[in-house]
Parts: sequence; C-alpha cells; structure tokens
Amino acid sequence: MIILVINSCRSSLKCSLYEMPDDRCLAECAVERIGEGKAALSFEGAGRSWEEPSSAETHAEALDALLRCLSSSEGGGLEDLGEIAAVGHRVVHGGEKISESLAVDQEVIEVIRDNSALAPLHNPPNLTGLQAASERLPGALQVAVFDTAFHASMPPRAYLYALPQELYTKYHVRRYGFHGTSHRYVAERAAEVLSMCREACNLITVHLGNGCSAAAVRGGRCVDTTMGLTPLEGLVMGTRCGDVDPALPFFLSENLGMSPKESYALLNRRSGIAGLSGVSNDMREVIAAAGTGNGWAERALDVFCYRVKKYIGAYWAVLGTVDGVVFTAGIGENSPEVRRRACEGLEPLGLCLDERRNLEAVGCEAVISTPDSRTAALVVPTDEALKIAMDTYEVYLRESGSTVTE
Ligand code: ADP
Repeated sequence: MIILVINSCRSSLKCSLYEMPDDRCLAECAVERIGEGKAALSFEGAGRSWEEPSSAETHAEALDALLRCLSSSEGGGLEDLGEIAAVGHRVVHGGEKISESLAVDQEVIEVIRDNSALAPLHNPPNLTGLQAASERLPGALQVAVFDTAFHASMPPRAYLYALPQELYTKYHVRRYGFHGTSHRYVAERAAEVLSMCREACNLITVHLGNGCSAAAVRGGRCVDTTMGLTPLEGLVMGTRCGDVDPALPFFLSENLGMSPKESYALLNRRSGIAGLSGVSNDMREVIAAAGTGNGWAERALDVFCYRVKKYIGAYWAVLGTVDGVVFTAGIGENSPEVRRRACEGLEPLGLCLDERRNLEAVGCEAVISTPDSRTAALVVPTDEALKIAMDTYEVYLRESGSTVTE
C-alpha cells in the first residue's frame, strides 16, 4: 500500500513516498523557497537524484509539481496518483485535546486552526498543505500526525506554569512540548534495541538538531519535556537560547529599548550556539573552532552540553530508574564529542560511556555505553517521516476496519 507523507512549512513543501507495511521509502522530494521567486525542486529515489528550478509560487503549485514528479517514469514511477491510499501530514500544534494521530475531518481542521495562535509560523502552512492534498488526492485518506501529541500524557505538575490560573484556563498558556514524533519514534526503537517491552522501559530521549529538546519517557508515555508553550524553552539550540530568566525581555526593553518583537527575534534567531560562539549555528563549525582555540566557541559548546547534562539529571530524578539515555537528530547522531561531554560525570548514577563505541557511532544505531553500565546510552537515528507513514498506515487500517496481519 502506498502512503504519501507531507511536511508543509512556511517556505517549503516536502513529500516522502512509502510502501507499507514494509516501511520502505520509495522517493523523497521537496520544493524549497516557495514564493521567493527562486524556488527549487529536488528529487531522490530509485537510484536517481536531481535538482531543478521550480516556478511554484504557492504550496498548491509546489504540490502539483511534486505529484507530477512522483508519477513520472523518471521520478517516483507511480502509474496513477490513485495508488496513494493515504496521506500523512505533519502538523506542529494540536493543543491540549490531541493525544494521537487522527483521520482528518472538519473537527480536526478546526483544532489545527484554533491552535494557530500558539504556532503561527507552523499551523497555517500545515493546513495549506492539507487542503491542497485533499483537493488533489480526493480518494486518499488524510491523516494528521501532531508534534505535540506525544507530550499530551504529561501530568499537570509538568505542564503548568506557576502563573495566575486564568492564563491557563482562559488562554491555554501551559507547556506543550514539540518534536513529539521524533521522541516517540526513538523511544520505541530504543526499547526494541534494549529487548525490553515498551511498557516497562524508562528512557530519557535527547533530540539535538537545529532545534533541541529532551523528554522523560516512562513506559512509553512522555511525562516531561523541555520545550514549553513555544519551542524556545529548555535546551540551548542552534539559534534559540533555551531557558533564560523570564525577566530578560523586560531588561532588554528597559536598558536597550527593545520592543517585544525585537527581543523575541533576538531570543529565537540570534541566540543559542550561534549567538554565544559568534561562529555559527552549525555545531560542526563550533566544534572545529573550539578545537583551534576559539574561547567563545569552547564556551558555547560547554554551555550547550552542560544544559543537556542538567536535564538528563533532572529527568533521572523524575523517572527514578532509567534504562537508557537516547541521543538522536543531527548533533545527537553524529557528534561523539557532544555525547561525551553530556554524559561526563554521570557514572555515579549508573551511566558509563564506552569511549570506543561512542567514537564509532556516527549516523548509525548503536549502544554506546559499557557492557556493565547499569543504564544504557544509545544512538538512534530519528525518522519522523517514517513514523508519520507508520501512524498513517495504522489509522488507515483502523478507519477501513482492517487489522494488521503479521
Ligand atoms: P533539523 O533540526 O533542521 O532537522 P538536523 O537534525 O539535521 O536539524 O541537525 C542539524 C545539526 O546537526 C547542525 O547543528 C549540524 O551542525 C549538526 N551536525 C550534523 N553532523 C554533525 C557532526 N558530524 N558533528 C556535529 N554536529 C553535526
């Protein structure tokens, strides 16, 4: 059965085509820089890859171009778009009510729309992609997979801020968490690698990409995560500051005359390892600069890794016992240096990193702790598109009344 996965962002639309239940990715393609007058289409699949300029001015035109590409003989090779049985959409914010992936109906569309105020950069383009796909593939089941859904199991003590209660009851100000599809995917995979049943496995999952977050996962359910009302809270990121004193925007306003918009932009786009190092938002460049004696690059790397370690410690206390600490995403999968620094000093808690295994684990699944470490450390490459395809397949079976036969 063929499933299309769509990730529709502000200026890009990405598609992945899957053959299920084999979890086989047939093709990946994207249009980037939509509406900027210099859009580009890229394709990869069936041993071929290319890039070409695209005339797409809107997300709907981008989807048309990608569907043409997927159904051409030199591209995805689909004989008929009718072969696509279901489309899985990445949706960033599902608010409080959504705790699972759902077949899209009017109610789900309203939820995505209602939560646009909480994710103004993400939910509107997600919805645009969803509407374009519903029109072009009317025979396919549309499924929404929410970034926030995995975190819906957090208890009030983890998601409430200590603010006047009407900010929560009237305005829904609370911690939501993001990257949920990635945390869920790597947590499930890590339980398999550890040969444990999901319900008995306590994990700390650490997603370190351009955006960074950690989650405490008890028996397959998220009980806390570092991102909050928006993705700004928690770990240090490429250009986002993570945790700072909430009085900082007031300080910036009083002393530097910054407007709320300006301080929001500073905290989101000019901070993190980019702001602190003065080198780059790319961790590879920061590590390289630190290696050649750049003091601010070294400090940025140190602050980044210390924040990760601090949250691993906090979530250890939350969970009581921890079976595994799981590293994922660009930095987590590829940087032995960051993992070493983040795990340094955790030996008394029961986590002993194996130096050689850690160095060898670059971009691949691996256990990187010593054989006698009481808590395992693992690298699990994330695959959000695959997880969306898996969820979409499950929802499709549920909706069509079939059962999985394995
Ligand atoms: P996104 O959040 O955009 O999906 P990724 O998960 O691709 O981002 O992660 C991007 C980050 O991964 C960048 O900071 C990049 O420098 C970092 N990264 C990729 N490869 C390495 C590496 N070998 N060592 C350190 N960092 C790396």
